[in-house]
Amino acid sequence: MVNNSLKEITQELLKAKTMLLYPHVNPDGDALGSCIALERALRQLGKEAYVLVEGKLPNNLQFLDDGYITEDQNILENPDISIAVDCSQDSRIKGRLDKFKEAKNSICIDHHENDIPLCQYNYIDSSEAACSQIMYKLLLEMQNQSDLEFDKEMCNALYTGILTDTGCFKNSNSSFDSFNISAELVKLGANTYEVAQEVYEKEPIGKIELEAKILETLKSVKDGKILIAYASQKMLEETNTEMDMADSVVTTLRSIEGTEVSVLLKEYGPEEIKVSMRSKSYVDLVPFAKAHGGGGHTRASGYTIEKSLKDAILEIEREIVELV
Ligand code: AMP
Ligand code: MN
Ligand code: MN
Repeated sequence: MVNNSLKEITQELLKAKTMLLYPHVNPDGDALGSCIALERALRQLGKEAYVLVEGKLPNNLQFLDDGYITEDQNILENPDISIAVDCSQDSRIKGRLDKFKEAKNSICIDHHENDIPLCQYNYIDSSEAACSQIMYKLLLEMQNQSDLEFDKEMCNALYTGILTDTGCFKNSNSSFDSFNISAELVKLGANTYEVAQEVYEKEPIGKIELEAKILETLKSVKDGKILIAYASQKMLEETNTEMDMADSVVTTLRSIEGTEVSVLLKEYGPEEIKVSMRSKSYVDLVPFAKAHGGGGHTRASGYTIEKSLKDAILEIEREIVELV
């Protein structure tokens, strides 16, 4: 797929007056961080912009909410532009797709591999560790073409995206740009300690209890090369938690010596099982995730299984062996 330039995309943004930004469903630090930064930039330039989300924000990302994040699809009628952020597949904005299509113009800013363009204007670079890195470059281009100034909240938001999508700079995708842009953001006002405190140091005790329950379900396949665990709705009730609090278990499992692939199944509903996968050093997860209607990155991918948790576990155990 051929990208449009950030220059062209900036021109489209500057021409428009109203826009809705769409992070992917179950938004993470990168999706929300990139959205907030762009929404604030657009507002600073006198535009009317909102971040339209599907579902509740994770607890540890609520500090990013600047009052313009909403679930209300009627917040703007016929906006000039719909902007997909950190996603380039319509399945990742499914519950908002009709609204997304209501706008005359559309822009996609993303770092997931995808061959089919979602929007009229697309900028997708899968070599970037975080969409927030692309968003930083877009804001620099906007600065070239306007009198935009970075504020502290924009910098904190973009830094949150880079910090979380690189796994605190531990993942293989961490690059010169991840460090360099982070340093630039600090220079422009980001407070890295504040972000780290918000994202990682305010866990509810229930999260640890949930993790303990998930670890009890651990199954080892092929001598521990693959580890599979699951989180059920029942566990959430018992620990008074939300499903996003299960997320970090999949990276914990990968950290075990000798493990190449870790898998976490998350029961969002009776027939809605989200699969989170991580690999350590040689398995490319993208083809497997794509074959199941999902996607992602070489070392972190996911998809949804529309079956009961029990059947989804059986399916994964049967199919996953082909990966290592
Ligand atoms: P997660 O395990 O949810 O953190 O997701 C890991 C990576 O896979 C992220 O980059 C997601 O964007 C991507 N991903 C997860 N689920 C899906 C899906 N259903 N469709 C496409 N990409 C996905
Ligand atoms: Mn994301
Ligand atoms: Mn991302």
